[in-house]
Amino acid sequence: MDSKYKTPADIFKCQLCGDCCNGFGGTYVTDRDILKIASFINADPTTFVAKYCDQSGSRHVLTLGTNGSCIFFDTEKQCTIHPVKPYMCKAWPYIKTIIKNPENWNIMASACPGIKKDIPYKDLKQIVALESQKLDNLENL
Ligand code: SF4
Ligand code: SF4
Repeated sequence: MDSKYKTPADIFKCQLCGDCCNGFGGTYVTDRDILKIASFINADPTTFVAKYCDQSGSRHVLTLGTNGSCIFFDTEKQCTIHPVKPYMCKAWPYIKTIIKNPENWNIMASACPGIKKDIPYKDLKQIVALESQKLDNLENL
């Protein structure tokens, strides 16, 4: 029988609740993210890191605003740096670790109301692998 889970939209639809932009979960920024976001907000990368990032181990994470959300989160506009948001924000929820550990999908679903639970692993892994590859292709243009 043909699977009913074929496309990304079959397994996830963002509800724009903003929960994933809330709290110190650590939105990591790569060096590439830093360059893109700094350019988008007309800052130089060093100033961007000093003003908008915290250190978490050896990596930079976006700092939080006074309301406890990501510094770039706005309750009306949602992500104010949407076109250049960090790789990890763009990738969500089609993250590579799901290809190896599909059982984590339902755990992610308990924190993200846009994720549909109990997707057959075969379909889930296929969709995530494709989306993840698409994103990497775009990022490497
Ligand atoms: S937690 Fe999930 S549904 Fe809510 S804004 Fe983030 S991605 Fe969308
Ligand atoms: S960069 Fe945008 S999508 Fe990512 S956590 Fe901040 S507000 Fe949310």
